[in-house]
Amino acid sequence: MRALIAGNWKMHGLEAQLDEIETIAASVKASPPAVDVLICPPSTLISRAVQKSAGRLNIGGQDCRSEADGPFTGDVSAEMLKDAGASTVIVGHSERRKHYGESNSMVAKKAQAAWRAGILAIICIGETATQRREGQALSTCGHQIAGSVPDEMTLAANAIGYEPLWAIGTGRSATHDEIVEVHAYIRKCLVTRFGAKGRNLRILYGGSVDPSNAREIMALPEVGGLLVGGESLKAKEFDSILRVVP
Ligand code: PGA
Repeated sequence: MRALIAGNWKMHGLEAQLDEIETIAASVKASPPAVDVLICPPSTLISRAVQKSAGRLNIGGQDCRSEADGPFTGDVSAEMLKDAGASTVIVGHSERRKHYGESNSMVAKKAQAAWRAGILAIICIGETATQRREGQALSTCGHQIAGSVPDEMTLAANAIGYEPLWAIGTGRSATHDEIVEVHAYIRKCLVTRFGAKGRNLRILYGGSVDPSNAREIMALPEVGGLLVGGESLKAKEFDSILRVVP
């Protein structure tokens, strides 16, 4: 299965930022990387990002509500993301879990909403620094997988994003040993639950990925891609991350 490298712009990006997408799309056209590429801009930019990407990049959303429509002021549904041209949506990002109190079951419903709408889901999990210090990194991730991943999660194009909270935006990515241990554990959970189909899902690592560490992280066992935050905002850096897979 091809690796997936996804950029999560978070709440960054005005119209001018679309130039970065144009630059990356041109580079991908000139020299296609060996990975699937996804950029998740803020919802306001999705449809224009789709135009700028000229079919060279996948464009995704950063969150969706689980209902298709209704009286939910300020929210966006998976159907709306699809309508705007998104192929994928990130659900359960730790910033959503933290700032909006999103529970595992809410995240599972969002993933189901994505499939109902016909788009893919990247379901994010990850432990806090305290949980890791207390030896609960694996059990936390296991619990989040059990609760956030719906039973129908078998489509290979979906993905799990492992993002330890203490590594997000800190410039301190997880160590190789930590990544290998958690990714192996996530794979074990998926195979126990889904049988052979659990082997098909890509497990992405996220948390302070940059051009200097991406190659080595991508080479670790069970790392099927990367979720890139800050470094995805700059075309040059993100493009060089796309090139780390030979
Ligand atoms: P970061 O963010 O690459 O800036 O650490 C990753 C993420 O939150 O997806």
